[in-house]
Amino acid sequence: MGSIVQIPPIIWLAFRQAMLQGKKDNSEVIGFLFCERYLISKKKMRYIPKVWIVPDKDCYEYQSNQALVLKQDFHLYLLKTYVFQSDYHIIHIHTHEGQEIPEFSPIDDQYESQYAQFLTNYCPHKPRLISGVFNESLEKGKFKIWQRNGEDSEAIIYQKEWLPVNSSLKEEYENTETKLRFHRQQMFGQGFQHQLAQLNVTLIGCGGIGSIFAELLGRLGVKKWTLIDPDQLDITNLNRMPSATLKMAEQKWYKVHYVKGLLKKIYPTGSQVKALPMSIQDTSIIPEIKSSDLIVVATDNHYSRQLAQELAIAYMRPLVCLGTHIEVREENQPRMYTRITIPPLGGNWCLMCGNIINLQQASLEVAPSDIHELASQRGYLQDVETPSVFWLNGICASTAVGMIQEIITGFIDISQGLDWIYEFSTSNWLKTDVSYLNTPDCYFCGEKILPQENPLSSLMIGSDCS
Ligand SMILES: [Zn+2]
Ligand SMILES: [Zn+2]
Repeated sequence: MGSIVQIPPIIWLAFRQAMLQGKKDNSEVIGFLFCERYLISKKKMRYIPKVWIVPDKDCYEYQSNQALVLKQDFHLYLLKTYVFQSDYHIIHIHTHEGQEIPEFSPIDDQYESQYAQFLTNYCPHKPRLISGVFNESLEKGKFKIWQRNGEDSEAIIYQKEWLPVNSSLKEEYENTETKLRFHRQQMFGQGFQHQLAQLNVTLIGCGGIGSIFAELLGRLGVKKWTLIDPDQLDITNLNRMPSATLKMAEQKWYKVHYVKGLLKKIYPTGSQVKALPMSIQDTSIIPEIKSSDLIVVATDNHYSRQLAQELAIAYMRPLVCLGTHIEVREENQPRMYTRITIPPLGGNWCLMCGNIINLQQASLEVAPSDIHELASQRGYLQDVETPSVFWLNGICASTAVGMIQEIITGFIDISQGLDWIYEFSTSNWLKTDVSYLNTPDCYFCGEKILPQENPLSSLMIGSDCS
């Protein structure tokens, strides 16, 4: 119980559009989403779509407002390609007439029960069957997941939002201390506060930006954290890390332990903070990534940002990328800016194809030491000890926390992604037109995430599906 099926807005939009086009007059219509799944906690799975298919009108043996039957050859082709030859699970969605939230009919149940048994009996990886029924405009619907033996089914949580929404209130919010603590932000609602308290945030990079970010988002109400950073504090950090002391630097505290200390000052009890002094390259962080509701990357190099983005794509996790940059131009005038990037969930563009990070830099950063040195000498590699100041990091971190707040309260639409840049002394806010960033053939986000084009489009449009 408690498993989640997550379909990001971009994917649902395209899928729904294809479903509406696949209707014949006022007939019902079927669509498939083939999913990967992974464990997020004990007995709790997350299913994320990797490929979707909406059969064309010609792929049906029979299609009316009463019943739907796909041509058998076509259906077998789908199963062979996406289920037998891969380890995908199936979400099967169909519509019912009318505008109300539909109920599964006894015929639906009978058919799906047999379908679940068939998959278990004939498919080595025993895929799970998740079934969805929607009204005719595909705006209201529900999902359930079948047991492998087809004997019974249970409800499954359907998450279409970027961050999970949990509107149920906990008793804790009746507690006076908690009420008072968030008294000055109660105008945002108890639901908002509760959602923050439930949110599981993984922060990669606990340096100058990450530490301020944790302080700010922690104060706003986030209590569940995983902190990842292999570095230790030193004296050069003291110009920009809140509450960091000379003693901590001398004792070489791990940055994750220092940030954990910041969070524990806010919530001595009732918070869960995991401090992992390790690199993002360490595969033991993968379970943390899988179970995160949000990944925030605030590291000082391109390579770790690339890895964070790759992990976010692989496990379809929301990602926020934070950075600041200071350089001195020839006229001795410093150029200072901060950038907050939120790539869209489910594809279209990412940090790599959007050119937010530089792949050449990323590969040089992890090149063997002799190449690394050569690149440095010739000026191809930025100095790791880049200029950095507290106030600019603060603009970055507080803007990002503000964006997260607005995303939760629904005032910012992030379905297509966001990329904001603030240039300091010119006081110039630049918002990238993200439609220019769409890169369907991106090596990183293009092929692993759903094809924007239906992969069977020729089959769909043509009549050769039988
Ligand atoms: Zn039905
Ligand atoms: Zn990409």
